[in-house]
Amino acid sequence: DLIVQDIHMHLGALHVLQGTSFTASKGQVVALLGASGSGKTTLLRTIAGLEIPSKGKIEISGSSVFDSSKDLLLPPEQRNIGLVFQSYALWPHKTVAENVAFGLSIRGTDKSEIGKRVKEMLEKLGLDHLGDRYPFQLSGGQQQRVAICRALVYQPKVILMDEPLSNLDAKLREEARYWIRKLILELELCAVMVTHDQDEALAMADNVLLLKGGSIVQSGSPLEIYSNPKNRYTAEFLGNNN
Ligand code: ATP
Repeated sequence: DLIVQDIHMHLGALHVLQGTSFTASKGQVVALLGASGSGKTTLLRTIAGLEIPSKGKIEISGSSVFDSSKDLLLPPEQRNIGLVFQSYALWPHKTVAENVAFGLSIRGTDKSEIGKRVKEMLEKLGLDHLGDRYPFQLSGGQQQRVAICRALVYQPKVILMDEPLSNLDAKLREEARYWIRKLILELELCAVMVTHDQDEALAMADNVLLLKGGSIVQSGSPLEIYSNPKNRYTAEFLGNNN
């Protein structure tokens, strides 16, 4: 499981995360929903180890990766996480197979092991016929698959996705919701996804956290949160003023 406990984050004078806590279990998707500036991306980046919180604890699969009370801070590459960015961030001058292999090779993984894992993951994502292409020779949907493939080749326990579907057209987005969800279940990943798209959160998440000003204003299953908004902000954000 991924356990995030009482995370505070300051950026200069701003208190960007104000004691955020949640858990994601294996095979579950937690969606971070909220208006622009509510702290979604910052929260994701603290889990990844790309931002250092001022206080709190983060545990992944029973191991502490951050604990302010013990001065414990593991770097991103030791956290057992895979990261997927909105822009996909593929290396333009590397082929698909090289993009997927890159992170493994800089971590010193054995060459034959790299070849085996890259091949397996490309096959799993239906990309094996595209291994020698360059990113510019791929469609947007294919690029997104490569980005997810690259995140999963580390065999992470947790996958963190920042607006992973927002660059896709409507039809591809529908498909991607489905196959990403299925993959998360199959690989028993704990998934955290930043989105500002309510439909996406509803379709993909087991648990939705609505953030406002760095605090969670409500959390629950999509059904709970939609059918029973506990406060005016949630109701208004969801456009559901009952
Ligand atoms: P969006 O949906 O627009 O991506 P978000 O919910 O992901 O927004 P964050 O990007 O996490 O929000 O930003 C949270 C707050 O932290 C905002 O007030 C933002 O202005 C501030 N912030 C983010 N990064 C920095 C930074 N590097 N320096 C100063 N303030 C920052």
